[in-house]
Amino acid sequence: MRLIMLGAPGAGKGTQAKILSKKLSVPHISTGDIFRANIKNETELGILAKTYIDAGKLVPDETTIGIVKNRLLESDCASGFILDGFPRTLAQAMSLDETLANMGMELTGVVNIEVDDEKIIKRMQGRRVCPNCGASYHQTNNPSKNGTNCDHCSTELIIRDDDKPETVISRLETYHKQTEPLIKYYNNKKLLVAVDGWQEVESITNEILSALGV
Ligand code: AMP
Repeated sequence: MRLIMLGAPGAGKGTQAKILSKKLSVPHISTGDIFRANIKNETELGILAKTYIDAGKLVPDETTIGIVKNRLLESDCASGFILDGFPRTLAQAMSLDETLANMGMELTGVVNIEVDDEKIIKRMQGRRVCPNCGASYHQTNNPSKNGTNCDHCSTELIIRDDDKPETVISRLETYHKQTEPLIKYYNNKKLLVAVDGWQEVESITNEILSALGV
């Protein structure tokens, strides 16, 4: 399975990508996670990416495309992958097509998780993440066991810098302008599967799997 998860920030791409990655035994590739790991380690890439991420903007295509190209060349991607948060622009999508064609691979499908902006803004207010291992929670929909610390590593959960309300608005604007055109792009290629993202996590997973015929 070679899948792309599309959807606005906060639509639940990451949550579903992690579940599908386990169920389908393919790696989960999140460009957001790659950037956050680099920010944490204060690498050159992290320092560059942070300026864009904190402003709710996209990291430039040339940087992002290079990272994904290299990641797809790693041996674990031979059996498939789930791309979460990439592509986010038409240039990224076209470059991905070219990379996959060069590798003799084709996409299996593109899952578009649909959630209204209003609901996303509300949902983002409850999102909490583990700054140590990257696990993601929601105060009401998916809380950690004690509500404040990570179930996996006990680190205290935090609000992501870019989940602040003013940044969420910029991220949604960026999404509508730069990423939403990809829905049409993949629909024209007959690869798009749309699912309602405003349901229980498990129902969304089941809807995705049945739409993909798994
Ligand atoms: P995410 O965790 O997927 O919401 O990504 C967090 C932030 O990382 C985004 O708001 C962007 O600033 C940046 N980012 C992630 N993926 C990409 C991408 N494919 N292209 C450009 N910027 C990205």
